[in-house]
Amino acid sequence: MKTAGIISVGTEIMFGKIDDTNSTYLSRWLKDCGITVKFRVSAPDVIDEITSAIKYVKDADLIILTGGLGPTSDDITREALSKYLSKKLVFKEDEYQKILNFFSRLNRPAPISNRKQAELIDGAEFLTNKNGTAPGMFFMENDKIFVLLPGPPLENQPMIKNGLFPKLKENGFIQGNILSKVYRLYNVGESAAADLFASFDEDVELGYYFTSGGWCEIHLTKYVTGEAQSTGLVSASKKAEKILNDAGIFFTEDKDIAQLVLEKLEQKKMTLSFAESITGGNLSGEFVKTPGVSKVFIGAVISYSNEAKKDILGVRQDSLDKHGAVSEEVVKEMVLGLKKLTGSDIGVSISGVAGPDGGTKEKPVGLVYFGFLFGDELYVKKEIIPGHRTRVMTRAINMVFVEILKRLK
Ligand code: ATP
Ligand code: MG
Repeated sequence: MKTAGIISVGTEIMFGKIDDTNSTYLSRWLKDCGITVKFRVSAPDVIDEITSAIKYVKDADLIILTGGLGPTSDDITREALSKYLSKKLVFKEDEYQKILNFFSRLNRPAPISNRKQAELIDGAEFLTNKNGTAPGMFFMENDKIFVLLPGPPLENQPMIKNGLFPKLKENGFIQGNILSKVYRLYNVGESAAADLFASFDEDVELGYYFTSGGWCEIHLTKYVTGEAQSTGLVSASKKAEKILNDAGIFFTEDKDIAQLVLEKLEQKKMTLSFAESITGGNLSGEFVKTPGVSKVFIGAVISYSNEAKKDILGVRQDSLDKHGAVSEEVVKEMVLGLKKLTGSDIGVSISGVAGPDGGTKEKPVGLVYFGFLFGDELYVKKEIIPGHRTRVMTRAINMVFVEILKRLK
């Protein structure tokens, strides 16, 4: 496997003024290409420091520098690499024409300082920049490749895919691919997931990750070449799905669950509304993060207080007195009241004890009741969710989405 070193150049990075997201992007991309990233270094816009960084990563097969290709005097990455390689910078007239064209398309005069962007390290090739003036560069010598990419992600990401990728493939740096398959498991802990897969004997890398969004991810990964690129994970994913199905565990593909709910509702032409107590609007907040929800989402009632439950949703005082706000009876009345207000095909009400205070022996912190109304069918679910306040809410929100997906299968 080929190895890579990534150098991000920019005094702004040193000052913490910008985040070096280019290195993160490249790391992920290289991993997907089956190239091992051995080093990641950052350097300011100073020739000596850039040179030290190149020396530090020099054992890698592929050395990628990002940033500092602009026209201003502080952009000196090109100069630093040419000096390190002991190669001259050669002015290229046709590249300069491209830069002039770029400006004329924008109806702007070309500043004289852009001229230096048409200078090529002797023996290198330009990588076209469709979204800016600074071209990238590709230089290969003795099986080692040096690459220069402009700093702005909008400019370097298309260049990586359309310019760098074919060059690496052509030179045998990319033979195969890292295939990966990700499953999201809801309401299952990491160790429980690990137990399920204890006797999983497929030839793939297996990872479990508990996410802050409250689900557990199972990752199957494998580096493959040749034919296996289309079939390398088929058998392993079939087996994984069988294990999950046999255990009755709900899982989804690696996609936002609210997005999946939206797609399902659109497909079934159904509408949705919420009556929220414990989540105080967060359930709706989570749902509306998905673009396009207006097609299926009617709205929500945030009925946090008993008064709101009574006045807006028509929950009976008697039910509140007898059973309390966190009860089967009250979530039923909440969702029926919601249906009267919104007329949606599906209604969900939710009431619970988020904590940290307010728990009792009968109604502990983490107790949540959900009222579901699918058409005329009304039912209640009760869960006790362990953890602190925000975790209880996040889990409760996921449970609503999971239930909708399960029901509309
Ligand atoms: P320009 O022609 O725009 O000057 P450049 O190749 O010289 O491009 P820089 O001057 O280093 O690049 O950075 C320009 C902009 O690109 C920065 O202000 C920043 O927004 C973005 N950028 C640069 N380096 C990075 C990085 N490592 N990660 C994310 N963004 C970056
Ligand atoms: Mg610049």
